Amino acid sequence: MYNEILPNLYMIKTGKPSCTSYLILGDKMNVLVDSGINQNFETLKKDIEKIGLTIDQLNLVINTHEHADHFGANRFLQETVPIITHRYAATKIISADDEVLLCRAHGHDPTGYHVNLWLENMNVIDLGDWFLKIFHTPGHTSGSISIYEPRKRVLISGDTVFAEGTISDISSSGSYGEYVNSLARLNTMKIDLLLPGHGRISTNVEEDIRKAIDNAKRKHEEFLNERKIKNF
Ligand SMILES: [Zn+2]
Repeated sequence: MYNEILPNLYMIKTGKPSCTSYLILGDKMNVLVDSGINQNFETLKKDIEKIGLTIDQLNLVINTHEHADHFGANRFLQETVPIITHRYAATKIISADDEVLLCRAHGHDPTGYHVNLWLENMNVIDLGDWFLKIFHTPGHTSGSISIYEPRKRVLISGDTVFAEGTISDISSSGSYGEYVNSLARLNTMKIDLLLPGHGRISTNVEEDIRKAIDNAKRKHEEFLNERKIKNF
């Protein structure tokens, strides 16, 4: 299932537990953000074709982080399309670090994936009419990125922040401190449209991020209190 959210920006949902994928058809490049789970590749491919593109016409796949529900279908794309992700995500993916990746939990082998380009904070990907700024936003995982289009005021947030300020769990490569800091950085940006990796999109972004910061702080407190009780 897909929707055109803005001209040349498509949201593709292939079904749970896969993440939401986003397809941007730029003047100069076509980019898929997150390929979703391994098992849903055929559905993803069909949706991309319905939008009017073949898999061969994809120029880049960007993964928002190192979880199998976001990069699993790279297996079917990586021989023809360059794969890019943050370097902390890349290190886990290429070394099949399944404690973080959770491929086996999604029913497949974690080995055999590769990454062509390792991103750093503030890298830019210029698609012509779309200008994607990469923000390293660790917290949910160490390699989480958010992708910001400053002229269109759009943020693709992966699992860092969802509509209503819902936040993710802290995975085994994540940190509450980094999570709060990443959200505080996102809170300084002008964002009109939030496109998260799961759930619905949001146009109430400032409030969502404010709520997300409160949620992250509260969850951190709860986590510390649980620890205290356990260690007592
Ligand atoms: Zn995740």
